[in-house]
Amino acid sequence: MSIDLHTHSTISDGKFSPEEIVVMAKEKGLSALAVSDHDSLEGSRRAVESGKALGLKVFPAAEISASHKNQAVHMLVYGIDLDNKALQQELDSAREYRVNRMRSIVGNINNELEAEGKPLLDLEPLLELGKEKPLGRPDIADYLIKLGYVQTRSEAFDRWLSKYNIPNKSLSVGDVCRLAHDAGGIAVLAHPGSLSLSLNSLSSDFDDHKKIISELKEQGLDGIEVYHPDHTEEVRGKYLALAESLDLVVTGGSDFHGTFGPADMLGSASVPDDVIERLENRIKIYH
Ligand code: AMP
Ligand code: ZN
Ligand code: FE
Ligand code: FE
Repeated sequence: MSIDLHTHSTISDGKFSPEEIVVMAKEKGLSALAVSDHDSLEGSRRAVESGKALGLKVFPAAEISASHKNQAVHMLVYGIDLDNKALQQELDSAREYRVNRMRSIVGNINNELEAEGKPLLDLEPLLELGKEKPLGRPDIADYLIKLGYVQTRSEAFDRWLSKYNIPNKSLSVGDVCRLAHDAGGIAVLAHPGSLSLSLNSLSSDFDDHKKIISELKEQGLDGIEVYHPDHTEEVRGKYLALAESLDLVVTGGSDFHGTFGPADMLGSASVPDDVIERLENRIKIYH
């Protein structure tokens, strides 16, 4: 059996709908799933419903943009009440911010295209898309692919989206933890060992990560995502030991976006089965 607690649907920057992901997870024989869209509860809501209909355990979840000491980090929340007002309000406001951020990033790309005498990007289709979901740089990437400026999302990031990035509206890690707890769930630091959107933006020294994670625990952090495709076996071992020493829960997932071929990534993070029981016990504390 395998488990995947980190996936993205069409509600954020994934290729498949929440319902399709649940069907794929079921077909792959996964024993537990979470759809963790960026700054949105909608994908998770639909996935939880589908999970009930198909008899698959689906955790309510989201991946929330946060910051620590002015660096962007990602937080995963699990077991939250998807109708919680305070959480919903914060995410709505993050989503509005993303629309204006999109205007600025597109403006910067257009300045460059204009200087080169090339056709500009039209904001309208992006703003239209923004009515359905929180806009992210991958949406600009997909648009650049459609216009033939680049072939892949990665190429769009390399050429424009990394250098013209503007931080998302972000809560502090402590705020995300408080919101998650008040909504009956828990907060986990996502992919701490990734090169970006992680602690590595603050320091690449694992001893510093230890210090930061123990400070974050004081602010309410419940766990860390150990099993993630950005983490090598060695890195997983280090975070696992750290989680044990600090009594933090451990989670994991493939960060499936569906953009690298069909369902091959789903469930591929080798998350051990005992993660689920510990996760559920932790969630119970706040429920
Ligand atoms: P945003 O929230 O708008 O900053 O978009 C961040 C998302 O873009 C990440 O969660 C990834 O899914 C995606 N992303 C970041 N860097 C890259 C990259 N180099 N290639 C493809 N996708 C990326
Ligand atoms: Zn994403
Ligand atoms: Fe992330
Ligand atoms: Fe993710």
